[in-house]
Amino acid sequence: MKRALVVGGSLAGLSAGLFLLRAGWDVHVFERSKDDLSDQGGGIVTQDAMWQALAGAGLTGRPGVQLKRRIVYARDGSILGEHREDETVTSWDALYRMLHGAFPPERYHLGREVEGYDETAEGVALRFTDGRTAEGELLVAADGVGSAIRGQMHPEVKPVYAGYVAWRGLVPEGELPAHARAALVDAFSFCTAPHEQMLSYTVPGDDGEEGFGRRRHNFVWYRPAEEKTALRDLLTDEDGETHHPNIPAMHAHADATLSPAYAAFVRATEKPKLQPINDHLCPQLVSGRVALIGDAAAQARPHTGAGTSKAIGDAAALAAALRDSDDVGEALRRFEAARLPIIREMVEHGRWLGRHLDPNEPGDGTAEGEDQAVDTLLRVAARAKDGNAAE
Ligand SMILES: Cc1cc2nc3c(=O)[nH]c(=O)nc-3n(C[C@H](O)[C@H](O)[C@H](O)COP(=O)(O)OP(=O)(O)OC[C@H]3O[C@@H](n4cnc5c(N)ncnc54)[C@H](O)[C@@H]3O)c2cc1C
Repeated sequence: MKRALVVGGSLAGLSAGLFLLRAGWDVHVFERSKDDLSDQGGGIVTQDAMWQALAGAGLTGRPGVQLKRRIVYARDGSILGEHREDETVTSWDALYRMLHGAFPPERYHLGREVEGYDETAEGVALRFTDGRTAEGELLVAADGVGSAIRGQMHPEVKPVYAGYVAWRGLVPEGELPAHARAALVDAFSFCTAPHEQMLSYTVPGDDGEEGFGRRRHNFVWYRPAEEKTALRDLLTDEDGETHHPNIPAMHAHADATLSPAYAAFVRATEKPKLQPINDHLCPQLVSGRVALIGDAAAQARPHTGAGTSKAIGDAAALAAALRDSDDVGEALRRFEAARLPIIREMVEHGRWLGRHLDPNEPGDGTAEGEDQAVDTLLRVAARAKDGNAAE
């Protein structure tokens, strides 16, 4: 039986592990974190193609919350547009628990940080930071945006800062003030201002609960931040600590910029997180017996709502190509030819959706005139493009 070594035990790595096991490979997943990754993360927008791919690995559950409508709110709380449609959103931890629970624990190795790899006559040899090694016929790099494997394959590829950050928050829905709950719960909602965008949706509770009152509400608030100066200031709190956003400034800005429901939501958030928005695209997904998947291969801006669907789609496409051929090198080349155009389109789509958020872009900081901007949020943002971008 051929052996596959997967580096990274998050969503891309676990799904690659599951798909490759079903395709008859002897798979081992190596994750640098010493602890299980559950109990982390926020909301995840899902695409139908992702659930279909997971069903192909025998995972037929869809842990998540069914939303019924999208709404765009104006700053004064009035509704600028509304669109009725079912969509499923979930949380990172619910998805991780599902994948992790289905993967054989004896094949999932925590505390194993990979330093690099060497090509061998039969395939690849991994080098770990603790001096150990492992050999296999295939190396799958699912080690995320800072991938050590991509760093070795393509050292010139680096994430590019988009000119803005996202503040993220997660609040148990019972802790939202009643007026905010009435406006936001069970909907995918937005509120925009020049060069800014707020969005939110309901996700499962921290133990995966999907019942009303036991779930959480998740927001993502995009705001411009200059890379060298403002970004550093945003990360400085009252005590001079550099790992938390400046909460009082955040509250004041929420009151001045967002609808009343969103301002209350921001104030109800105990520990907001800050994420600089970057993207990158590796020009090759494959080199010899090595394949890059998930964020290691490319990261689209989060407006696509497809990062996780893409990661799982990459893993499914890789396993499908390998199932159809005994020649690993040839299968990897087919995987790249099929997948790279889809990924490239997704990265470009993310740039297009986020273009007005970059303060350096020309224009007044609104997407394309208010009516069209509202329509884009209701019908285009965070959806699979032309049915295939998130395959
Ligand atoms: C704990 C966690 C929470 C997240 N929460 C969210 C969220 O709430 N919302 C959202 O949209 N996205 C979230 N993400 C990112 C999201 O998982 C990815 O953008 C997307 O699903 C693609 O996943 P990935 O597996 O390619 O990359 P990642 O999820 O980034 O996983 C990469 C994995 O590789 C491991 N790794 C890195 N380097 C090495 C190495 N040298 N050796 C061994 N292992 C290595 C990392 O520890 C990590 O577990 C989260 C990621 C993590 C790790």
